[in-house]
Amino acid sequence: MGLIDDLPPLREVIRTHDLVAKKQLGQNFLLDLNLTARIARSAGDLTKCDVLEVGPGPGGLTRGLLAEGARKVLAIEKDARCLPALAEIADHYPGRLEVINGDALEVDVSAHLTAPVRVIANLPYNVGTELLVRWLSPQVWPPFWDSLTLMFQKEVAQRIVAKPGDKAYGRLALLTQWRADARIVLTLPPEAFTPAPKVHSAVVHLTRLAEPRFPADAAQLSRITGMAFNQRRKMLRSSLKGLGPDIEERLLAADIAPTARAEEISLEKFCALARSFGQPR
Ligand code: SAM
Repeated sequence: MGLIDDLPPLREVIRTHDLVAKKQLGQNFLLDLNLTARIARSAGDLTKCDVLEVGPGPGGLTRGLLAEGARKVLAIEKDARCLPALAEIADHYPGRLEVINGDALEVDVSAHLTAPVRVIANLPYNVGTELLVRWLSPQVWPPFWDSLTLMFQKEVAQRIVAKPGDKAYGRLALLTQWRADARIVLTLPPEAFTPAPKVHSAVVHLTRLAEPRFPADAAQLSRITGMAFNQRRKMLRSSLKGLGPDIEERLLAADIAPTARAEEISLEKFCALARSFGQPR
């Protein structure tokens, strides 16, 4: 087993600081530093980037990011029990690790990071999708990040990269692929984590596009796809009838058969339909 730094092994760190995993914080730790370095590498060259990490825990991925040369890592951790272990890593890499003890859903990271920024995290499963949706839906595009390299439950990762006709195709695929290229770069069995979760996991790498892939208003697109996939087995002329009496004409103008179902419709066609409604007031 090659070591990536000369800090203590993670099992020892966990023992020393008594970091018994808490389920309500989504704590499933990666203890293999070769694996965390591999995840860091899957995000590309980090040497000229700041990295935002959510949920460093005992610091396995944090150490991978720093060993791979990240210019700076900003790590946001909710669990104060992890702070002493993270302070040891900060001492080992002077000036390169900043830790904020807080909730990633509430902390404003903008003042702490310098572009270019990559987000790399083994996310707590209970807030992972919410964070992804926020990172993909800022008021202004492009966002603060260049790429997102994120661990999810495999089932969520499949929803992110799904294509029309796939069982997992839905709003998350559309939102993601409207503004980013996304691919699964690694899948991991439950045993890769301590404690082992019930499900397999996967790392998704997203690279932001300079502009959304097809023109459309974000709010209109969200409204339409929300209605369409709420009743995904229904024909669109029926699931979207709340959008007005002329919905069939609008669907036809967007080259969508009114009898088609949401799961068959490409992002390009949903964007065409959204454009037919113009900008919301
Ligand atoms: N990065 C570590 C690793 O790979 O071993 C830990 C990953 S563990 C899946 C998720 C981490 O996120 C835990 O350390 C947990 O305490 C932290 N966490 C949970 N909810 C959080 C939140 N809202 N904001 C910041 N950190 C959170």
